[in-house]
Order: sequence, then structure tokens, then C-alpha cells
Amino acid sequence: MTATDAPAPARLRWMTATARDIIDETPRVRTLVLDVPEWPGHKAGQHVDVRLTADDGYQAQRSYSIASAPGAALALTVERLEDGEVSFYLAGDLRVGDRFELRGPIGGYFVWTAALEGPLFLVAGGSGVVPLMAMLRARADAAVRTPAVLLYSSRSEADIIYRAELERLAAEDAALKVVHTLTRAQPSGWNGFSRRVDRAMLEEVGFAPDTRPRIFVCGPTPMVEAAASSLRALGHAANLIKTERFGPSGR
Ligand SMILES: Cc1cc2nc3c(=O)[nH]c(=O)nc-3n(C[C@H](O)[C@H](O)[C@H](O)COP(=O)(O)OP(=O)(O)OC[C@H]3O[C@@H](n4cnc5c(N)ncnc54)[C@H](O)[C@@H]3O)c2cc1C
Repeated sequence: MTATDAPAPARLRWMTATARDIIDETPRVRTLVLDVPEWPGHKAGQHVDVRLTADDGYQAQRSYSIASAPGAALALTVERLEDGEVSFYLAGDLRVGDRFELRGPIGGYFVWTAALEGPLFLVAGGSGVVPLMAMLRARADAAVRTPAVLLYSSRSEADIIYRAELERLAAEDAALKVVHTLTRAQPSGWNGFSRRVDRAMLEEVGFAPDTRPRIFVCGPTPMVEAAASSLRALGHAANLIKTERFGPSGR
């Protein structure tokens, strides 16, 4: 067998995923629980590539973070963009029993494992909460009790993904704090933050730099870049700040 005949590593091979369950998270966001018989397992924070093929052979490929904890059924959470080629299908037309291709898990950098020491500071914008949710689920499964904070920015209350589960995780774990900011609309009586993530918010909600928190930031590109530079300006070490950029604008 020559090098070119060698089988691709399992994580790079296209596999067939079948939708086992579909959960409506918000009016525009759905979680797809998938059966992937060949799935090799994953770490919290990794993603997959999804490939859709039309009847005429046209293909479109996008990345989606893994929402589930290691060991649980593979789940993706997709936000439907009205003019989006792939998300409009996955979070719109796809039905239980439908199939598509994916490959993974991908990524070794934006990854949390129970072996990481120190406080954990997670900063999410919109669907950027997906890989951070995998980390919180993994943390709960491993019964890790070091301090953790999720700062989660959504447009409105109705856009908060995983809201009930986040409330439950925080209620069951005194070391976990979940802080919301709503950037566009706030319900009456809202006493949380009501602006975009900024330096003052990161300082107020996060951990002091000298406690050397592990920081994971995920969301629309401009939000991630602004948060990462604010965290640097606050004195957090660059090698402790890990970022994942989901897309162009985060409209
Ligand atoms: C590593 C990684 C992980 C990701 N994980 C997730 C995830 O868990 N859940 C999820 O919903 N998305 C995730 N994304 C984004 C996803 O890959 C797609 O970019 C998104 O679903 C849009 O694809 P589309 O084919 O529907 O839209 P396209 O047809 O590609 O674009 C349609 C329009 O939307 C704009 N657009 C494209 N992407 C985005 C975006 N992310 N935000 C706002 N506007 C956009 C385009 O400029 C265009 O105007 C991830 C991206 C990366 C790189």
C-alpha cells in the first residue's frame, strides 16, 4: 500500500449522520441529536465539518461546534440565517431520520478538559455559546468544582440558547455563575447587563488576572476580537485566552 492509498485518519473521513432528535432551543436555533455509528468520540470545544449534497451534485460545507459532552450522543446546535445556505437547511428543513455527511472531531486548541487547572472564564456571543456549553456539560459530568463563570451575550431574552439548562447547572453548582447581557431588547424588570460585552463588564464579571483563569471566547468575529483585546488590556496572559470565531458579522 502506498502513502496515497492509506485510509484517511478517522477524524478526516466523511461519515453519515442521521438526525435522531431535533430540539427547538429558540425560534431560530435548533439542536440536532445525531446517530453517527462511526463517531470516534470528542473533547469539549471541538467542531465538525458538515457537508450537504444536492440532487444535482452541488455541495456546500460549513463548520459546526459540538454541543454535547464527551461520551454523550453527538449534538450540534445551529442558528438559522434566513439567507444561509447550510444553516437554513439544518435549522429549518431537516427532519428526524434525515441524513447528511460530517467529519471530525476537529480542533485541538479550543478545547477544555477536566485536567486544566485554575478558574474558568467563558465568554459567549449568540450561538458562540455552543462549544462553551459542551465545556460546561463536561465540567458537570466530571464534577469539577473550581470556580467558573459564563458571560453570555444575546440579543434578547428569547434568543438565549440553553436557558433552562444553564439555570439548572448554576443552581446545582455553587462554583458556577452564569451572567447574561441582552444587547437589543430587555424584558421589563431586567436587572442584568443591557449592552455589548466590553472591558468594564469583563473586569466586573471575570476573574483577576493574577488567578490565571483559563479563558475561552466564542462568537461573531468582531465580538471575539473586541473581547480578546479587552482581556489582554486587563492583564490576562495571551496564552490563557483561547478564541473561536464563528462568522463575519453576527448581525
Ligand atoms: C469553528 C466554527 C464553528 C462554528 N460553530 C457553529 C455553531 O455551533 N452553530 C452555528 O449556528 N454556527 C456555527 N458556525 C458558523 C457556521 O459555520 C456557518 O458560517 C453559519 O451556519 C452560516 O452558514 P450558512 O451556509 O447558513 O450561511 P452562508 O450561506 O455562508 O452565508 C449567508 C449570509 O450570512 C452571513 N454569515 C455567514 N456566517 C455567519 C455567521 N456565523 N454569523 C452571521 N452571519 C453569517 C454571510 O456573510 C452571508 O451574508 C461555526 C463556524 C466556525 C468557523
